[in-house]
Amino acid sequence: MPLTNSRDQSLRARAAEVIPGGMWGHMNARALGPAYPQFFERGEGARVWDVDRREYVDLMCSWGPNILGHRHAAVEEAAARQRLKGDALNGPGEVMVELAELMVATVAHAKWTMFQKNGTDATTACVTIARAGTGRRKVLVAKGSYHGAVPWCTPSLAGVTQEDRAHILHFDYNDVASLEAAVELAGSDLAAIIVTAFRHDIARDQEMPTLEFARRARELCTAADAALIIDDVRAGFRIDLAGSWEPLGVRPDLSAFSKSIANGYALAAVTGNDRFREAATKVYLTGSFWCGAVSMAAAVATIKVLRDTDALPRMIEMGERLRQGLQAAATRHGLSLRQTGPAQLPMVLFDGDPEFRLAGAFCAGALRAGAYFHPRHNMFLSAAHTKKDIDQALDAAEVGMAAAADIATSGKSVA
Ligand code: PMP
Repeated sequence: MPLTNSRDQSLRARAAEVIPGGMWGHMNARALGPAYPQFFERGEGARVWDVDRREYVDLMCSWGPNILGHRHAAVEEAAARQRLKGDALNGPGEVMVELAELMVATVAHAKWTMFQKNGTDATTACVTIARAGTGRRKVLVAKGSYHGAVPWCTPSLAGVTQEDRAHILHFDYNDVASLEAAVELAGSDLAAIIVTAFRHDIARDQEMPTLEFARRARELCTAADAALIIDDVRAGFRIDLAGSWEPLGVRPDLSAFSKSIANGYALAAVTGNDRFREAATKVYLTGSFWCGAVSMAAAVATIKVLRDTDALPRMIEMGERLRQGLQAAATRHGLSLRQTGPAQLPMVLFDGDPEFRLAGAFCAGALRAGAYFHPRHNMFLSAAHTKKDIDQALDAAEVGMAAAADIATSGKSVA
């Protein structure tokens, strides 16, 4: 049950008066059930504390951004050094060029890069650049893929006009025939195919892209002289620093990055190849805070740590430890789990749980025992997760599994 008279409850009551719905978008904790806090006080490494000072092993990493863990020393130092000089100035700082050079050296297909603030800025910029570079309109999007919260792609149709979506066509992720059919439908008006690094749609099993699908997407774009855009906002730098499709040997024309590139500081990036350099020069892209030097300094430090340490392999190792531990706990409690996609981006769903009641009970139980899991969205490991953190999360998961097993056998509802 929610703690009554808690700081969280009183902040929610105040927020309800002055913020529509008390909280907007995906961070509205009501969607997670009554056990979840809405407001947080601080984070450190692989831990977060809510405003009632309850500590959790953090398996969301701020929905991705904190790839090195909260308040990573090298990143905080770089950001603090830049903050002493200024953040939003009349133009970018020297650090923008350093960061651009680093992005181009790191991301395999990149010959240039441009910076924004949020993932939606970057995916939308990719689409605009693709249209400018091809002089065409149609953009192919996988059904159910999330690319951001503006009219061309937001999952809610409230406030969206038909015209906003007039040139968006759909295909099924990993389904070559449906991709080919959408390309056919777009005909000579095909500007781009935009595709997430892997299938990580909410509330369903994750799927890695098949080699056949990735290669065919590349071939179709090349044949039509359209842009292949990889939306690497969620997976970027957690699969491969060179780009998430680099292990498949498939290079996009344009990529969108954001969440993890500055370890929690607000930054996004579009990377592109020479085919789209001129278009990227022509389109008008800007934002009052897009040149903020503090987040760029944080990004330089973040990328160097990712490049120069074993951060990524450790994250994968810890993800696998979590996955194995969860599997064992589920088996002990007679529950059947589906854990899909990369271990460092865990998605944990229960068999026979169409309404996510078992997932809700599991997460609520684990939360009370000190680990912050998500019942329907993929989670995120960081380089700060240690064996001790994972084992503590697994101890909490044991409590969650017992609660889920209780629901499974008794049909009780989630507290
Ligand atoms: N693309 C993907 C794949 C994402 O996961 C997200 C954010 N969850 C976005 C785009 C949009 O990013 P932002 O919320 O920073 O605008």
